[in-house]
Amino acid sequence: MRKLVAAGNWKMNTMLSSAGDLASALAGKVKQDDSIEVILCPPFPYLTTVKEKVSGSSIQVGAQNCYHEAEGAFTGETSVGMLQDVGCDWVILGHSERRHVMGETDGAINKKVVAALAKGLGVILCVGELLEERKADKTNEVLETQMKGGLSGVSADDLKNVIIAYEPVWAIGTGVTASTEEAESAHDFLRKWLTSNYNAESADSMRILYGGSVKPDNAEDLMSQRNVDGALVGGASLKADSFGGIIDAAQKLAKG
Ligand code: PEP
Repeated sequence: MRKLVAAGNWKMNTMLSSAGDLASALAGKVKQDDSIEVILCPPFPYLTTVKEKVSGSSIQVGAQNCYHEAEGAFTGETSVGMLQDVGCDWVILGHSERRHVMGETDGAINKKVVAALAKGLGVILCVGELLEERKADKTNEVLETQMKGGLSGVSADDLKNVIIAYEPVWAIGTGVTASTEEAESAHDFLRKWLTSNYNAESADSMRILYGGSVKPDNAEDLMSQRNVDGALVGGASLKADSFGGIIDAAQKLAKG
């Protein structure tokens, strides 16, 4: 049985006080519940504060990026060790904004994936197609390239510390959500890819989250699909009420 995940990607939003308030409100809601995993990914400067505010709850904290080198002359970058030092359990890698706004390639993403896993930091690896790629019927081809590229050199054992997030780019921040059929079909493809490229056991235990305009009113339908194991949430993770509604939906499904 795969444990559902509700992960919030705050992107470049919140300020110190609002980040703290949001984390406190969610910690008060989630408490020690461990029927699902809740992960908050605030901007770098607020990781420590968010970590403090969620202490005593079961909420985990993740970063939105990292660099593959351990230390040195890499101005503006943040190492895996630094993230672990401030209490991160996870790092989001390969988000579509990093790919399409910052120009990150599968090769660059893979170096980060390998560096994070080598130090035991969990990776939420995002994959997803552009609208024109979907229209050209290239969704599976794109997903395959991103999975192959992002996970190059990653062993089945290291895969235990990876969560995949399927995030169709056309659904991110647009208010347009993939239909349950579109989401399930992509997730099914990803799980089959994991079976063929790793093994059935790894594929069966891997969490594959859906991301793209998830809200409290569509979360339950999406997360109840057979191969959808939770949600990576952007906009709706910025308010305690809306992310709380998504957490409620996941807890309801987890508890049957
Ligand atoms: C995201 O940024 O990962 C995301 C899914 O954003 P949104 O929920 O706002 O579409």
